[in-house]
Amino acid sequence: MAEPGSPAEVLIVGGGVAALETMMALRDLAGDRVRVTLVAREPDFVYRAMAVAEPFGLGEAQRYPLRRIVEDFGAELVQAGVAALDASARRVVLRSGDMLRYDTVVLAPGARMLPAFDDALTFGGPESGPAMRALLDELEQGAVRRIAFVAPTVAGWTLPLYELALLTARHATTKHLQLELALVTPEQRPLALFGERPSAAVAQLLAAAGIAFIGASHVEVGEGEFWLVPGGRTLDVERLVALPLVRGPELEGVPAELEFGFVPVDRHGRVDGLDGVYAAGDATSFPVKQGGLAAQQADAVAEHVAARHGAQVEPSPFRPVLRGLLFAGGAERYMRAAEQGEGAAAARPLWWPPTKIAGRYLAPYLYEREAASVPGPAPEGFRDLEVLLDTPDAAPVGD
Ligand SMILES: Cc1cc2nc3c(=O)[nH]c(=O)nc-3n(C[C@H](O)[C@H](O)[C@H](O)COP(=O)(O)OP(=O)(O)OC[C@H]3O[C@@H](n4cnc5c(N)ncnc54)[C@H](O)[C@@H]3O)c2cc1C
Repeated sequence: MAEPGSPAEVLIVGGGVAALETMMALRDLAGDRVRVTLVAREPDFVYRAMAVAEPFGLGEAQRYPLRRIVEDFGAELVQAGVAALDASARRVVLRSGDMLRYDTVVLAPGARMLPAFDDALTFGGPESGPAMRALLDELEQGAVRRIAFVAPTVAGWTLPLYELALLTARHATTKHLQLELALVTPEQRPLALFGERPSAAVAQLLAAAGIAFIGASHVEVGEGEFWLVPGGRTLDVERLVALPLVRGPELEGVPAELEFGFVPVDRHGRVDGLDGVYAAGDATSFPVKQGGLAAQQADAVAEHVAARHGAQVEPSPFRPVLRGLLFAGGAERYMRAAEQGEGAAAARPLWWPPTKIAGRYLAPYLYEREAASVPGPAPEGFRDLEVLLDTPDAAPVGD
């Protein structure tokens, strides 16, 4: 641990949602008790949640230089990839072989994404935007007419698939194209995780757009054909657009669950069996890989770390509240899952600021940086920047 009176060294591995939210929360909660260093492989934070809009020319996955964000919060940036954790010596090992010492380390390297099918367009990484754009060109030329949007598994985050399907349908309408679109998913109902009401609202959107919903199903590929499982029915499409499979980060010295390699943590983000080691976000064993949840995990970690280094904070455990903004190019839906009950869906914001990635610190920070979207005060009825309306179920779709 740090010498009495000197700040504790906190290393945060990653430059995404969980890493930034942890850094911002720590600055607020622990102040000068900690010296924070972010170790990130890439120079920019990428707002991936808007990647779906890019191929359609309706928005972009904006990039924010990490250096500026880190400076704004009085932290330091080391731009490097982390190769391993040496927890017994309290050091992380960089790919260059250099070591960085810590009192506390927070691992937020995200998940690895792997293609689920050889012959599908996998939407997730940086190349997927141009690939999707090329597919739209083929649609416009009449070379392709039938597409299935496929979620290979429910582990991960399926909302972008719905957005891609709806945006493709919208594109077809604009360009007067006759397409046959289907969405195939292991979910029983559209975005079932949000509860009945949001699911019904999404089902309505799909039906209105002419997209066939095929739930409780997987796709298998063989001899150039696509099959639905269970049932064995042929899926009569020319192309698949699929979400990736998500896997744990593969960092040497970091515990990993057997099946998919995610980092096992408790509700405060403490990594099983390692003192002073925390993890947050998509890299952890929590099955839903979503930015808002990554931010909530990061907040729980930051509270525990702040208390560990002497701040007067009562750490509260991670209690997931799912908020999702479905972007459909003009038919947006704000959705919130309820712990009990039906959840809520509305055409107007159910949280503030009304960003796609809802995080207590990150969302207001990014929102305020966007000159074009200066938010002004939160509308009446919002208690603060993070908390939702108390009675969201009262908000009907379409108001
Ligand atoms: C197409 C798409 C759409 C999405 N839409 C939404 C949405 O609408 N709303 C929502 O809430 N979520 C959405 N998500 C999910 C959201 O983007 C993720 O859940 C979120 O980014 C997870 O944050 P994270 O910090 O855990 O990981 P990431 O954001 O993946 O960040 C990981 C960071 O760690 C860095 N890193 C990785 N390995 C190392 C290493 N060894 N050393 C150093 N640095 C490393 C990476 O460069 C990166 O900066 C979407 C995701 C995708 C792909």
